[in-house]
Amino acid sequence: MPLFADIVLPLAQPTYTFAVPEEMTVAEGEVVSVQFGPRKYYTGIVWRLHDRRPAVKRVKCIERRLYDRPLLDERGRALWEWMADYYLCTLGEVMRCALPALMKPSADSSEALADGDFRPRTESYYALAPACADEAALDACFERLERRAPKQYAALLEVAAAVRENGAGDNGTGANSAGANGTGEVARRLLAADRPTLHALCRKGLLEEREHEPDIERGEPRFRLPCLTPHQQQALDALRRAWSEGRTAALLHGITGSGKTEIYIHLIAERLAAGEDVLLLVPEIALTAQLIERMERIFGSRVTAYHSRLTDRRRAETYLRLNRSAGGAFVVGVRSSVFLPLKRLGLVIVDEEHDASYKQAEPAPRYAARDVAVWLARQAGGRALLGSATPSLETWLHAATGKYGRAELTERYGAAQPPTIVLSDIRRAARRNERYGHFDKELLDRIDAALARGEQVMLFQNRRGFAPYLECPQCGWTARCPQCNVTLTYHKGREQLVCHYCGHTEAAPHRCPSCKVVELQPMGFGTEKIEEQIAERFPAARVARLDRDTVTSERAFSAIIGDFAAHRTDILVGTQMITKGFDFEGVSLVGVLNADNLLNNPDFRAAERAYQLLTQVAGRAGRRATAGEVVIQTADPTHPVLRQVVAGDFAAMAAAQLAERCDFGYPPYARLTVLTLRHREPAVLRQGAVQLAERLRARFGRRVLGPIAPPVDRIRGEYMLSLMLKVEAGASARRARDLLADELRRFAAEPATKSITVSVNVDPQ
Ligand code: ADP
Ligand code: ZN
Ligand code: ZN
Repeated sequence: MPLFADIVLPLAQPTYTFAVPEEMTVAEGEVVSVQFGPRKYYTGIVWRLHDRRPAVKRVKCIERRLYDRPLLDERGRALWEWMADYYLCTLGEVMRCALPALMKPSADSSEALADGDFRPRTESYYALAPACADEAALDACFERLERRAPKQYAALLEVAAAVRENGAGDNGTGANSAGANGTGEVARRLLAADRPTLHALCRKGLLEEREHEPDIERGEPRFRLPCLTPHQQQALDALRRAWSEGRTAALLHGITGSGKTEIYIHLIAERLAAGEDVLLLVPEIALTAQLIERMERIFGSRVTAYHSRLTDRRRAETYLRLNRSAGGAFVVGVRSSVFLPLKRLGLVIVDEEHDASYKQAEPAPRYAARDVAVWLARQAGGRALLGSATPSLETWLHAATGKYGRAELTERYGAAQPPTIVLSDIRRAARRNERYGHFDKELLDRIDAALARGEQVMLFQNRRGFAPYLECPQCGWTARCPQCNVTLTYHKGREQLVCHYCGHTEAAPHRCPSCKVVELQPMGFGTEKIEEQIAERFPAARVARLDRDTVTSERAFSAIIGDFAAHRTDILVGTQMITKGFDFEGVSLVGVLNADNLLNNPDFRAAERAYQLLTQVAGRAGRRATAGEVVIQTADPTHPVLRQVVAGDFAAMAAAQLAERCDFGYPPYARLTVLTLRHREPAVLRQGAVQLAERLRARFGRRVLGPIAPPVDRIRGEYMLSLMLKVEAGASARRARDLLADELRRFAAEPATKSITVSVNVDPQ
């Protein structure tokens, strides 16, 4: 019987059918190389095997099998299928996003990387040499080294202690130095001793160095965990209860510094000890370097970091290593880690679950990793934990209605005090002549005082939507992108104008191209301007800036952060980047330059986002015994959201916003899908958009809004129009998806409209 395989290729296409050569055995989920088009080779995934000959003349054969095992098990395939279905995209688009680049090569030759091509990452381990095997011999070594080589003495002591301590984990007997992984070794990375000293000990025959793949499977782990406070213990119990009562997901709502991470650690240790896998999702990895380090101090080499800054090779290796593992792995990663092949997923934690970076904006699949995480946990019969100081209203509502479990932490751990937040009225300051550049006297005075006390300051400016641009004071000409309908952003340092949508760059003109006036003025202000003004005002202070322009590489990022952490700089000016995940002991004052542009965003989530961001910024102050200070500059100090931020009253914010969302039919009371249509010809575009809107209205009635022009309605020379579909939460999402998918297929097939590109964004952020 001839055998055929439906194969997913990394293209925005459905599956293609190939014939399986007689001598070949393949299984579903396996990776193969196929010829597609005259000379092109692609890597594909065998999706279904069957015996139905497709209705084409010649069916091509699969070229060869790659890797020695499937890259996707049944659960992985179920995930891809669900994503394609829910986010209205193709399996090929999911594949492009889900597999590391190196694992889906396409080429003009049939060369492809195979499992064996990836050398596993190895690490150095140290063990006591046989010369130090028994107590007496070891004592003699110590005695000799103590006087003559104190550094070596300290290093040997460190290794011996680490090995012995690990050994004590085995059955708790403490008999012989068996080590955590059963071999009496300790990873180089966990030692404070330097390499030359360790090498010297190896040369003397006292230590042995071994190089091997970090082992995450052998042996029973024994992690040293902090004791929880009574409040934390209660929260942990509440979470366990929620899961044992059959809920998949639970919310851990705890203020910054309350010990959410400590609770994660307890749960992670528990699952790993049971031989299960754990996935910890974090918003943006560079910003969570501290978190990874903290996890490594406890879980050692079991921690697998996964993020976009890894090399392609490293990512492919990680995927393959996890694919071979049988459980007990701990991945800390960004949103794309939801695609890693964890076979025994016992727990998924989403830290800062409200963070917008969990949603992929471009390209398809435009998935929300937080929602995928909950889906994964449900499929695996495992647990999902969503942690945040300022949860998304979607999650908050689920917790309020009992669909999700909930636990709360309302106090900071230890002596740390929550910061005091004050609002500074920009308009009043201006009336009193107490405004200097972008600063109120109130904020400047406090900066002065903090610097005088030898403390550090962070200044936050929401750059986006408030970028500096060039304007002619005479005729009103502004510098605009020739490709996109936006103003160009002015970069003073480089004397350049840059488009933040398409990257178009040009030199900043000295005189107005329209009326030839010479004095062009930068309008609006960004972090660069703030940095300049603050340096002028406090010439003795060391000022640094953290934003997309100064962070050109991971190294640049670490340098800026490292300098601030070591108090080599006094004031750090930055965008959203400074708000996440840092603990700086020395920071006693945080200033927000302008809260109004956050609040005035024309977006139904603006208030929620403003609350989240301001609370997070405020959390950077006062991770210490004396309460920190936060100054928020605003033109509207009576704004209810600002009041709620000052009072730290999340519940009040949530109640007010939810009432509004309910009235106007927004999430979480409705599901939104935004369709964006693009075309070079405005007339073709408009006609197509109107037609699609009409057809959708015939199906969905008043649930269809638009077409409207999005805020930026031309990018890279293409015009854009969007439609929104708003389906109430009670209606069948399944049926709505099917109807929509139907219409989109028809739209893409018709001659008049098929040249229009449509992108679908389900649950836009
Ligand atoms: P969150 O994740 O909620 O911001 P963390 O877990 O980072 O809070 O805790 C804040 C600080 O307090 C950390 O330095 C952490 O080590 C410390 N901490 C919290 N709980 C405990 C505990 N039970 N024992 C020891 N230290 C704790
Ligand atoms: Zn542009
Ligand atoms: Zn002009």
